[in-house]
Amino acid sequence: MLTERIWSGNSLRNFHYLIACAETGEALAVDPLEWRMCLDAAARRGWQIRQIVNTHEHSDHTGGNAGLKHATGATVAAHERAAARIGGVDHGLKAGDVIRVGRSVELECLDTPGHTLAHVCLLSHSDPPALYCGDTLFNAGAGNCYNGGDPEALYTTFVTQLARLPEETRVYPGHEYLVRNLEFTLDREPGNEEAAALLGTARRQDPAAAVVTTLGREKRINTFFRLQSPEVIARLRESFPEIGERPDAKTVFVKLRELRNRW
Ligand SMILES: [Zn+2]
Ligand SMILES: [Zn+2]
Repeated sequence: MLTERIWSGNSLRNFHYLIACAETGEALAVDPLEWRMCLDAAARRGWQIRQIVNTHEHSDHTGGNAGLKHATGATVAAHERAAARIGGVDHGLKAGDVIRVGRSVELECLDTPGHTLAHVCLLSHSDPPALYCGDTLFNAGAGNCYNGGDPEALYTTFVTQLARLPEETRVYPGHEYLVRNLEFTLDREPGNEEAAALLGTARRQDPAAAVVTTLGREKRINTFFRLQSPEVIARLRESFPEIGERPDAKTVFVKLRELRNRW
């Protein structure tokens, strides 16, 4: 399986992905907003884009569908409950569906509500595994929930699905927010040395060459995976004394998400 990450350079800081079969050159585009950039990247690699997947219904992920479909004849797939809102969707997706790209690539659909209630992540069981996670999980952060989402559902997605994936899973989110997210992690957990070291690197980095994290690393630098950290809990109690000394993980997650909304 081949992955090309395409940095949009737009104000929303979108990442697009092409996932291709090394044997046939057939490719799938994930959330191709700046669709001409995806077309150019495919041409450079000698790939043919045959499929489009939208991780969810927001227009910054679906706005390139029509252009790319017109240019390539690609089919469009999205969560079955997002399809009507997106329009022009050929295949509705649900948990456990397998998308094949060419002869060698299989992507499992995970139903991952939270950022919206009709969000899919694509999981490749390759070596190493890869997760294309839209606006559910960002590098060092989590998607917001104020445009059709639900923070408790996002918590459940994090804990029951994402956290259980192999540590070496490569994380491919829909936006590049690493610096801002690391700053939030360090605001919550100033003693997190790995996050501090990565922030130094990230500040000097061209977003087009941004680091690709793994799930194992996310568990160390992403405050939304660090719900048991004594420092995170102690800092959170300064803002929300009512959560008590031993808040449950869901409460910690939801309160972190609430703080991040206004941070
Ligand atoms: Zn979104
Ligand atoms: Zn987005």
